[in-house]
Amino acid sequence: MICKLCHSFFLEEDSIFGLFSFSELCQECKEKYSPSRLYEVFPIRGGIVEYHYLYDDLSLNVYQKQYLSKYLSVFYLDMLSNDKNFDLFIFLDDDVLFEDEYLGLFINGFNNVFMFSLMRKEIIYKDIF
Ligand SMILES: [Zn+2]
Repeated sequence: MICKLCHSFFLEEDSIFGLFSFSELCQECKEKYSPSRLYEVFPIRGGIVEYHYLYDDLSLNVYQKQYLSKYLSVFYLDMLSNDKNFDLFIFLDDDVLFEDEYLGLFINGFNNVFMFSLMRKEIIYKDIF
């Protein structure tokens, strides 16, 4: 099989469990790109911003970002449950973060904000607020 992330050939161990499902990633990529849910919390006027992300300090190309973005579904489940009563959900992609000053204006007026991204973005507090 060919790994969908590194495009190298790999062999899976034959077993009864592998008959109907094939692994898309080699063992090395499974370990390297295993998502871990990380977050930061910072205060804003009258509330908090929770910033969640899955990967810290990885360099990914566009194809890898696209493939790994399927793991963002954990955040979608948070959005659906909304047990912390967030007022606003923001997906931080490269375009949103590029406009720091607008992000601050957008958040202004909300108390509980949930931001999430695939990769950790460097958020400079003073540039946003
Ligand atoms: Zn691989």
